[in-house]
Amino acid sequence: LAELMNGIISFIGLGSNMDDPQARCLEAIGHLEKVKKSTLLRRSSFYRTEPVGLTNQDWFINAVVELRTALSARELLAELQAIENLMGRSRIVKWGPRVIDLDILLYGQEIIEEADLTVPHREMHKRRFVLEPLYELAPYAIHPAFGVSVAGLRKRLGDVSRVELLNKGQV
Ligand code: ATP
Ligand code: MG
Ligand code: MG
Repeated sequence: LAELMNGIISFIGLGSNMDDPQARCLEAIGHLEKVKKSTLLRRSSFYRTEPVGLTNQDWFINAVVELRTALSARELLAELQAIENLMGRSRIVKWGPRVIDLDILLYGQEIIEEADLTVPHREMHKRRFVLEPLYELAPYAIHPAFGVSVAGLRKRLGDVSRVELLNKGQV
């Protein structure tokens, strides 16, 4: 019951295409379970996804988790970046191969537009690899800037890159 009472519901997107991507996503979820002032509520299934933007690289594993948190969005971003760094994320090529990417997709119904933090995530509505796992967890969640549900965004999606369900999620 305590976990129902405090905090903001945030959805976080995970992606990896290096060093056993599924294991890296599970490892990241293990770290997300330990984020301070937060409770990991659910995770989506894993999806095998075709790279977008920079297509000459391995396919990704993507997933989304739902976190209830008493951290501010900025504090949450710092926690996610600490996990990325801990797991050896290096930023060499934009959109290139990475061991783990953790992005804040939604943070309650807040709209944040700052130099180093945009929420909702600025590309989420264009990306099938984000919307398929998010739809699995939260089809009725509203994108606060567009006033459209995740189901609505998914229906309007033009992204034809392939996204394949790997296995059913469980926490
Ligand atoms: P994309 O943002 O297109 O998914 P990326 O995830 O590969 O690309 P990163 O290298 O992980 O990009 O992050 C670049 C910067 O994006 C970070 O330093 C961070 O400050 C900023 N950023 C802005 N909004 C967000 C957000 N909602 N979640 C995570 N990072 C964000
Ligand atoms: Mg990203
Ligand atoms: Mg990122």
